[in-house]
Amino acid sequence: MFQITIWSIPPLLAALVCVGAYLRTRSMKRVPGMQALLALLAALLFWSGAQFIGAVFTVPSIKLLAAKFAYFGIVLTPVAWLFFAVGYTRRQMRLPRLALNLICIVPAITLVLVMTNDWHQLIWSRVDFIWDRGVYGMVKEHGPWFYVHAIYSYGILLVATTILAWSIGHTTGAWKPVVAVITAPLVVVAANLFYLSPFNPAPWFDMTTLGFAVAAMILDGGVLRYGVLETIPVVRDRVVEQLRDGVIVLNAGGMAIDVNESALQILRTTRGELAERSITSFFTKLSMEELTNFDRPDGQGLETTLRGRSYDISASSLDHTNPDADVVLVLRDITDRLKTEHDLRQAQDELVRLAHTDYLTGIHNRRFFMQRLTEEIERVRRHGSQLSVLLFDLDYFKKVNDQCGHYAGDQILRAVADVSTRVKRITDIAARIGGEEFALLLPETDQAGAVRTAQRLRQSIARITHPETQAQRIRITASIGVATVSAVSQDLENVLNHADEALYKAKHSGRNAVCCADISATG
Ligand code: GH3
Ligand code: MG
Ligand code: MG
Repeated sequence: MFQITIWSIPPLLAALVCVGAYLRTRSMKRVPGMQALLALLAALLFWSGAQFIGAVFTVPSIKLLAAKFAYFGIVLTPVAWLFFAVGYTRRQMRLPRLALNLICIVPAITLVLVMTNDWHQLIWSRVDFIWDRGVYGMVKEHGPWFYVHAIYSYGILLVATTILAWSIGHTTGAWKPVVAVITAPLVVVAANLFYLSPFNPAPWFDMTTLGFAVAAMILDGGVLRYGVLETIPVVRDRVVEQLRDGVIVLNAGGMAIDVNESALQILRTTRGELAERSITSFFTKLSMEELTNFDRPDGQGLETTLRGRSYDISASSLDHTNPDADVVLVLRDITDRLKTEHDLRQAQDELVRLAHTDYLTGIHNRRFFMQRLTEEIERVRRHGSQLSVLLFDLDYFKKVNDQCGHYAGDQILRAVADVSTRVKRITDIAARIGGEEFALLLPETDQAGAVRTAQRLRQSIARITHPETQAQRIRITASIGVATVSAVSQDLENVLNHADEALYKAKHSGRNAVCCADISATG
């Protein structure tokens, strides 16, 4: 019933190595392709375990059943190796689900044919049980589908190994893990080919499992111990996954082939959904050309909004020599920055407004008036026009304060400010330039026009009433000095002094009056 021989050792050894590698891999940090790697090790364990049972039992039906069950591992091995390679390089999105399913069709057919071989002999055309060198073994002749399965498996193995070697070599630049990753499957293939070849001296002994044990050791020394599987993805995870910016890698067809967690959150999507939708469907206002335009002349990113937040999108090609190269999009949330900038601009505007405004009356202050006066004088000089300045001072205002109180005085000052803004035109500037002293700047205004405005102003001020002043029988009046200058006037800059002199005259003429300055022309 049982036989324990030296030929039972290789599958047992392989099974033990697989168990060790499985446990070790599970305890490793999570790396891309980890599930596939575990599936691969499980497949190898199944394969070598079934083979061990087949080698140990001498009952033909058990041997046959074990050979059949070994196929669960045999068909899964190359597929798992491919999925691992694809997953490890993080290109899983490149292979649509349909392709992954299609890859599994041939292995599934193989498995069904293995189980039903008794009816069609497509896998094994003949199975013999023989005694050889003291061992009871099973010798199989292979049917046509076996070769379909073998060629298919070798093809997948070749593709997967190429992907993996290229990816590891590309990202690490180290040759040792690349050699290991190529050598390991080669050893398995060599052992398997030798087993199938006519040169095999013990055709009932499948040394493929021996190949696994060697391959596992090569991979362990050259890849796992080297830390390749852990370091690259960990570095990638640290750098890309923990980035607050969203990172999306697009292929030439505009499909996202890699994406970090932040990007998924920004787009409010999942990797699965992203693999099936075009990236432009997330940005309603942007075309593919705009999104992937990495040659923006100003070096500036593209600004867009998504669900009320603002993002700066910058694109860069992974290979500038290839127009079809993958493009990396970096999405930076600039909502807070834009808000800060906006608030800052508002604060600046407010500061400027405050610097130009009289705190008591809300009209312009002396600083702004002087600034505008300088500009207007310059315009007169250049364009040969005229300008007038009205300078007015409330009469006996000390008495208002003394008899009616400072508070009433303030209210009257505000009323005078209102009157002066009502009397002036839009282009005129009204300002409070001293305690109870105001000024009106009238651009493009000759003396006659200025005097008319001054008279209207004087009359309007005289109509200001306040309960306190009425009670005290005090009239609010103002004396107004008018100065008009043109490009030909002497000392144009002194127009305010001239207005002051005219105001002085108005005061002396009995107050509540308008007087004009006498300004001579040059030359
Ligand atoms: P006149 O100009 O007609 O010669 O007489 P006056 O009484 O107005 O003369 P003066 O310039 O000496 O007095 C100005 C007064 O204006 C002094 C002060 O009490 C008052 N004043 C100045 N600034 C303010 C202010 O901001 N609020 C109030 N309530 N009063 C002010
Ligand atoms: Mg006064
Ligand atoms: Mg005064």
